[in-house]
Amino acid sequence: MEVVNVAGRNAVLRSLPGVDEVLGSDEALGWLALLPRTRVVSLVRGAIEEIRTEVLSGGKLAEAECLSRVKDRVNQSIDGLLRNPLRPVINASGVILHTNLGRAPLGQMAIDAVVETAGAYTNLEYDLATGLRGKRDVHCGELIERLVGAPGIVVNNNAAAVFLVLNELARGGEVVVSRGELIEIGDGFRIPDILEASQAILREVGTTNRTRIGDYRRAIGPETKALIRIHPSNFRQIGFTGRVSRRELAALARSESLPLVEDLGSGYLEGLEQSGIEREPTVGESLAAGVDIVTFSGDKLLGGPQAGIVAGRAELVRRIRRNPLFRALRVDKLTLAALSATLRAYFAGRPEELPALRFALESEESLEGRAHRLVTRLKSNREFQVEAVPGRSVLGGGSTPMQSLPSVLVAIRPAGRLTAGRIQSRLRANEPPVIARIEKDRVLLDLRTVFELEEDRLTAAVLEATRVREG
Ligand SMILES: *Cc1c(COP(=O)(O)O)cnc(C)c1O
Repeated sequence: MEVVNVAGRNAVLRSLPGVDEVLGSDEALGWLALLPRTRVVSLVRGAIEEIRTEVLSGGKLAEAECLSRVKDRVNQSIDGLLRNPLRPVINASGVILHTNLGRAPLGQMAIDAVVETAGAYTNLEYDLATGLRGKRDVHCGELIERLVGAPGIVVNNNAAAVFLVLNELARGGEVVVSRGELIEIGDGFRIPDILEASQAILREVGTTNRTRIGDYRRAIGPETKALIRIHPSNFRQIGFTGRVSRRELAALARSESLPLVEDLGSGYLEGLEQSGIEREPTVGESLAAGVDIVTFSGDKLLGGPQAGIVAGRAELVRRIRRNPLFRALRVDKLTLAALSATLRAYFAGRPEELPALRFALESEESLEGRAHRLVTRLKSNREFQVEAVPGRSVLGGGSTPMQSLPSVLVAIRPAGRLTAGRIQSRLRANEPPVIARIEKDRVLLDLRTVFELEEDRLTAAVLEATRVREG
């Protein structure tokens, strides 16, 4: 047996085409129209080598297939290299702020602002009135101040904001923090690591489930530079728990002449009062309760681009602004364009123009109607059972812990040899990819996070993914 295999394998290896043979094929003309010859040659060579390696390590391949397999591989490489690797996907997961899917989709105003700014020179740091150098801060600064009631600056993301704030306010000294708030944000990034990287020394107080004001008070000493409160974004404690209120902590900080910093995580401004989501304190309320500096994300509940906003007492914001790390963490013109447009949606009293907020606000009745319409359209395929079922959408993005909203989902129960996992992976392979979840052997589609404009493509993708193919 072994001998036959080796002989067969050698025959396959001998029939692998040479570079010239591949370059002589019709397809190669198409490749050469796209890319310089040297690049095509290197891709062809790479493809032949890859297939040789696969055959040597036991991959099955018929002699007659060798040339076409090499060509397929070259086509795949060219495809992969010449297209935008960031692909729009249809998010049917129902997770509104899905960190892996890029969190908040931008609103139309923000998209327009990015498009308008991207291909042009701009007054990013140029004062058009005087012709002198300006500051990029001005493009969002005034809106932040009007919306949260205190001046603010923008950096790359909220993790950068926390890092910068503590580096400025607590470097070389201690920052007092409750043990109940030392969270991991996701993908292994932990708040305590960020705090330590900022060169502040953590002074942990209290216990995992309960921290009292006296714990903070006793920890304050000559080394203390700041107190910090962190939003427990992605988890919730129940049972015997206790957390010190903002006001109490602010009073303590004031009496000790220390700044109180709050990492709000999501940074809720307004607009979700009607959504049924448990009310979060707004950024403005947090500041009004006596917090000196808040930090929050641009792409969570705010509904804008990735960014981190630092806002609060003017003299502290000025100090933080002067820290050299601000330069290292600054944002570009596209972020400023998108963030400013997002903030303008709030300023104009129309936060529901931001998709993340609109999705959170969509009623169960509306979702039920959409789910039933999708079910009707999918019933043309009789190979599987599909029905509308009650379920829940998730806010996600470490916004407000465990917050979910009632929704109506489309549930697909696979039939025959088609498993739920197989349907899910076919949906991912669709163009555009569709992201769905599985529960109890059913594929679930939540229309809350699907734009109405995407519904036709979603329907087509599901019909294709559930087709029982021959062979
Ligand atoms: C999400 C989150 C962060 C990180 O924000 P990014 O904008 O992703 O950097 C930090 N702290 C809290 C409490 C968060 O919820």
